[in-house]
Amino acid sequence: MVNFYIGIDFGTSGTRSITINSQGTVVAQTQFPFPPFTDTWELVSLWKTALFDVIQQIPLHFRRQIDAIAINGTSATVLLCDPNGIPLQSPILYNDSRAVTVLELLKKIAPPDHIVNSATSSLAKLIWWLTAETTNTKPQKSSVCYFLHQADWLAFLLHGKLGISDYHNSLKLGYDVENLTYPNWLINGLQSLTNLELLKLPDVVAPGTSIASITSEIAEQLQLPKACVICAGTTDSIAAFLASGAKIPGEAVTSLGSTLVLKLLSNIPVNNIKYGIYSHRLGDLWLTGGASNTGGAVLRQFFSDLELENFSRQINPNYNSNLNYYPLIKKGDRFPINDPELLPRLQPRPDNSVEFLQGLLEGIAKIEAQGYQLLQQLGATPLTQVYTAGGGAKNPVWTAIRQRYLNVNMVNSIHTEAAYGSALLAINRGIGV
Ligand code: ADP
Repeated sequence: MVNFYIGIDFGTSGTRSITINSQGTVVAQTQFPFPPFTDTWELVSLWKTALFDVIQQIPLHFRRQIDAIAINGTSATVLLCDPNGIPLQSPILYNDSRAVTVLELLKKIAPPDHIVNSATSSLAKLIWWLTAETTNTKPQKSSVCYFLHQADWLAFLLHGKLGISDYHNSLKLGYDVENLTYPNWLINGLQSLTNLELLKLPDVVAPGTSIASITSEIAEQLQLPKACVICAGTTDSIAAFLASGAKIPGEAVTSLGSTLVLKLLSNIPVNNIKYGIYSHRLGDLWLTGGASNTGGAVLRQFFSDLELENFSRQINPNYNSNLNYYPLIKKGDRFPINDPELLPRLQPRPDNSVEFLQGLLEGIAKIEAQGYQLLQQLGATPLTQVYTAGGGAKNPVWTAIRQRYLNVNMVNSIHTEAAYGSALLAINRGIGV
């Protein structure tokens, strides 16, 4: 009997699934784009529909031989549920900053410089729920409720065990990923706000850990084997990193999308809140990184994708334009320069569009190199190899320019989809790095 594995990615615009065989070859891909919604309450049923739909679209002959499933969600998208897993409130999405109102309270609970000190952290959202003034947003005070991340809840729909999470999703809740425990400051802080007999924080396991077999009811409904294992999940950006194939300390993935995101696999964790740098645990290793506001969105301000392709072809990547740009759409950057007042530097602008584009590509490449330098200065394992994901990955001239600044081996990722990374978690039943 051949085994297959499903990775499911809940991204910002829709759900995708990738089914692979035990060699990692993709055999099926399905998707469910999210329709526009007016109220986040609608997402509860939409996510369930999307989950079941992307599985049901997988051809039956693969579905009947699925060995394991893992799901990634968007980081810091959270829910509060009753003991049956029924959401009590509308979910709060990853980018929802309503919890800005609890930052002062959060400061009294969390250590300074901790990643949870942000209006969009999972902990800020939990505290917002616990303290919100309006009664219809307050969790019931007299009955048990479970705090879950999106990926936890979706996996629960398949395995039926409530209250389990992974240490990627739980990082922004304040879970101590070095010591694999909830820290005292978190427990004490929450205890000062609520009855912890009633508020259930998830039990945290390593991403990819087998949680349980799918429930027989759902197995029947989705025509999956009864023995199909549901694994602990991860976040979307880590799933995308896992998809790249980077495994060894010193290997990194640069995402050249609308913004520039760097991720470097390191032997030791690196955290620096000033630059927005933090580290996720990956087995015995650490995935550290940062995000700059520079990136493809600046290119898109000046060029269409077709122009980017045509003009890039005319650039000689070995020659330096000497245009010293810091491409930004608007003022301010956090990493590798932490300065909210930093102005975009896009002058002087040559008449020749090819030369201008070269200046932009070089400017972004320099920021990338500076970013990796900063991570290494702060203690990360030295950079040896860079994989590339995102829209800019398909530009070989840019890769050659970046190679000049980075001076390491450049590799094109074969897989960049988060769903593929989750499927690998399902094969490995854990973090396989
Ligand atoms: P995101 O998901 O972050 O919106 P994508 O990974 O889809 O971004 O990448 C889109 C970006 O890729 C756009 O901002 C665009 O400027 C850039 N892009 C598209 N084609 C090219 C190209 N040939 N060379 C460089 N950048 C490109």
